[in-house]
This record gives sequence, structure tokens and C-alpha cells, in this order.
Amino acid sequence: MSVIESFTALPLGGPSLPQERRLVTDLPGPRSREILDRKAAAVASGVGHTVPIAAVAAGGGVVVDADGNSLIDLGSGIAVTTAGNANPRVVAAVTEQLARFTHTCFMIAPYESYVAVAEALNDLTPGDHEKRTALFNSGAEAVENAVKIARKYTKRHAIVAFDHAYHGRTNLTMALTAKNMPYKHGFGPFAGEIYRAPMSYPFRDGLTGPEAAKKAILHIEKQVGADNVAAVIIEPIQGEGGFIVPADGFLNALADWCRENGVVFIADEVQTGFARTGRWFASEHFGIVPDLVVTAKGIADGLPLSGVTGRAAMMDATHTGGLGGTYGGNPLACVAALAAIESYVEDGLLERATEIGDILTSRLRALAATDARIGDVRGFGAMIAAEFVDPETGEPDGALTARVAKDCIANGVIVLTCGTHGNIIRFLPPLTIPNHLLNEGLDVVEGALARD
Ligand code: PMP
Repeated sequence: MSVIESFTALPLGGPSLPQERRLVTDLPGPRSREILDRKAAAVASGVGHTVPIAAVAAGGGVVVDADGNSLIDLGSGIAVTTAGNANPRVVAAVTEQLARFTHTCFMIAPYESYVAVAEALNDLTPGDHEKRTALFNSGAEAVENAVKIARKYTKRHAIVAFDHAYHGRTNLTMALTAKNMPYKHGFGPFAGEIYRAPMSYPFRDGLTGPEAAKKAILHIEKQVGADNVAAVIIEPIQGEGGFIVPADGFLNALADWCRENGVVFIADEVQTGFARTGRWFASEHFGIVPDLVVTAKGIADGLPLSGVTGRAAMMDATHTGGLGGTYGGNPLACVAALAAIESYVEDGLLERATEIGDILTSRLRALAATDARIGDVRGFGAMIAAEFVDPETGEPDGALTARVAKDCIANGVIVLTCGTHGNIIRFLPPLTIPNHLLNEGLDVVEGALARD
């Protein structure tokens, strides 16, 4: 059977898929199990998976598997398909581009869609200063390039990252990432000149933003020295680390300190960017204007694309040929990004993220009011988390969190966990999810919590 023939029996994805939770087998069903058995035999065991299915189609607010099970998607493939899987605008743009050319390498023969994405990023990222953009493939690759750019511009070496940070799995980004298991364990030695500062974590540290910033700045000044610091890199709302929203004033004080000390302030908006939090970028919620903004995930609705956008003087400090890569800004990914941006605007998806946030927050807060195991509900827009704790001690309860998430998945709702202690369930639905599915998904979470 040819590749195409093997696809013809499968449903098409996109918003026209029936928007329902439908379990016709236990998970995994027989066809998915067969594929997962092949995975176990063929794919390196280091590449894990959370949901025991083989996906064949997705769209709106569902993921359909090889056995015909339809699961509610509250994860968007880790905050990627923000404009919905197989979004019709993205499908049309990529299909059209596919029939024209798939690759010339932008560093060899440039093309317009890359330039248009750079223009869009220069326009959409916070601040009206003159900006430039460079495109890459993954979040980690873009983070690495932001660090290269900051070092080249400042002629300094030290990079400051934060407790609970996640910036990727390459050697440099592992060094920037805080959590050992599963991201770093046994993979060292790591890149040097990386320093870690304390993060503002209002639920845990009880500090105001200015107090937490003072602590972090003192730490940097005493342990690294301001003059040695090329860049401070921070997720405005931490993703993998636990959807930690810093206290008001923390990011602002940090950004001010960077400006006063000639330090490049890098916002890693890989998870928070592109309408996810109800704004184009989470930095806007805090009124900060980063020097460099790193983007990926929601930028191209599932095609691999990432970017670094920032002040022209910093971005242009690198010699020609110093930035790039074979596939960076691939034409299929670039037209996907342009179509996704069109969808965010034309389909009202920023407003939709805020509506989704209201539903998630009000329902989770109501649940927390009657269940002391939910210690905190936080986030913005379609990026909301519930932190699970031992009600007696307030200690993180990772075991409960894992049980609840597993129960939700077995009942046809894809939820993801996160947090240094694995005690957070994060909600990242596609913005195309209908309300009835969002509510049904939350009913399932509620049921799982009642059982566990
Ligand atoms: N930064 C942040 C904030 C992320 O959430 C992620 C991915 N979870 C990355 C960087 C790395 O992105 P990628 O997996 O595309 O390399």
C-alpha cells in the first residue's frame, strides 16, 4: 500500500470533525495498541508519550485516534495548535505553497513569506522601536540564537535564568532549564556561564513583585556581577515549570535593572506567545517591553517554526552569516504562520482566549472552593493551571496530580501536567474548542478528582 492509500480510509481533520467526546474502546484500542507496540520496537524509549493512542485526525477541540475514539483536547500538543489543528486557513496556505516550492534555503535564495513573517513579528511584539527578526525551527534553537545575539551585542558571557525555568533540551537550553528529571539527568556536562536566580512565585514565596525582584537582583549582583551579564532570560509566565505567574512588578523591576546595567532582557514567549494568554504576547499583561522576544509553538499552528525578534541594534550586531540554518524559516512553515496570524485576527481568537480563560478560571476556582487539594488556580486566557497540594501541609502533591491526569485521559480528555514537583495540571485548549467540549472536559476533571 502506498503512503497515500494508507491515508484514504482515515477521517480528515479540522473544525468539521464531530465535536464530541466518544470512546468506542478502552485506551489504547486494538489498532492504536498495534502502532504503539511498533513504536516500542522502533522508536528510542527516551521518546515517551502521555496519551496511549495513535492519532489520525484532529481539529476544533478533539483528537481522533486509529480506533475511532474522539478525545477532548485540553493540551494543543503543548500549546502549539492554538488556532486549531488543521485550521482551514493554514491547510489552504500550506497546500498552495507545497505545490510551488518546499525549500530553497532562505540563506541561498530568499523568498517573500519569510520576510512577511519577520515584518509581522516586528509589528506584533511589544514596543514600537525599530526591530529585526531571524527565523529558526524550534523553540530551543531560537533560545540558543537569542543567547548568541545577546553575547555578541554585549561582548559579555554570563546568562541568568530562573528557578523553575524551561527553555529546551539542547545542550545550552538544558543548562538554562531548571528541572533535572526528565530533562537533564545524565546528559551533562552542560554549557557554562549560566547562572540561576530565584523566581517570583507568589503562591509559594509570599513576596511582592518588588521584593522578589530585589532578592533576584541582589543574587545576580553578588554571585555574577552586573557587568558580566549578557542577558537575563525569563518566561513571563513559566510554562513547564508550573504556569507560575510572577507577582506584579517583578518583571518590570527586572527589566528596569537590565536597562540600567546594559543587560539584554530576553522574554521566552515560546509557550505564552501568539494569543495563548488573550494577548499577542504575555509580556503585555505586565507592561514590559523585552529587548528580545523568542517565539515558537503557536506561531505556525503546528508547523516547525520559531523566531527571535528584537531591537535592531542588537539583532544587527551579528556579522552576516552568523545566524541561520538549513531549514530556518522554511517556506511551508512561513505561510502557515501567515495564515495562523490571519486566523488569530479574523477569527477573533485573542478574544476567544479570554473567554476560555474565564470559563476555566471560574470553574476551577469553584472546584477549589470545595476541594482543599487545589491550592491555587492561576494563569491568563487559555493558559490556566491548577496546583495540587496536600491540604494539611501545603506540600506539592505530584502523586494525586498524576492519578487525576491519568484518569482524565482514560476517560477521553487530554490534560497535561507540569511543575518542578509535577503537581500542576495545565489547561491549554486550542482556541477553536467549543464551550460544550471545554465544559465537558472540566466535568471529567471534576469526576476524576472526586474518584482519586
Ligand atoms: N521555551 C519554552 C518556554 C517552552 O515552553 C519550550 C517548549 N516546551 C521551549 C522553549 C522549547 O521549545 P522546543 O520544544 O520547540 O524546542
